[in-house]
Amino acid sequence: MNTLLPWLVSTFADLQQRRAQGRLAHALMFVGPAGIGKHQLAERFAQSLLCAQPHADGQPCGHCHACSLYAAGTHPDLFRLSPEEDSKNIRIDQIRALIEGMSLSSHYGRHKVVILNPADAMNIAAANALLKTLEEPPADTILLLVTDRPSFLPATIRSRCQTLRLALPARDEAQAWLST
Ligand SMILES: [Zn+2]
Repeated sequence: MNTLLPWLVSTFADLQQRRAQGRLAHALMFVGPAGIGKHQLAERFAQSLLCAQPHADGQPCGHCHACSLYAAGTHPDLFRLSPEEDSKNIRIDQIRALIEGMSLSSHYGRHKVVILNPADAMNIAAANALLKTLEEPPADTILLLVTDRPSFLPATIRSRCQTLRLALPARDEAQAWLST
């Protein structure tokens, strides 16, 4: 299994702590500069929410049925939304399909997880369609919004998400990683 980029480890641990304490919001926004690993963090967190036997530190086991489905890209409780090939935007029909999918109960009795990447690619109609879901999320559903341009999202969306700000790694931390 890929290891997390070193500067993401503490944020991952923070997420797991919130989860363990029942303080996890149903919508999390991963904000930070492009290329820092926001999407990797969202993916790993999604896998950990789906995993049937996560390690004590919350890392997904990589071996259970859920992890196998995750690795194959076929986990039915994981929804990924990005712009389709012919578009720069996440469109309202994609959000509608998502909402329909989320209305079904979880296939494995755990979380349903949505990753929107980049969330700022939602056009206004799509953002408005998602708003209702953010206000009244289906049970056990967690939405992970990834963006390096949060100001491109409507304030109504931002205000309903718990924001995780990822900072650029310190120079020596980045250099140590690059030299490994
Ligand atoms: Zn697992």
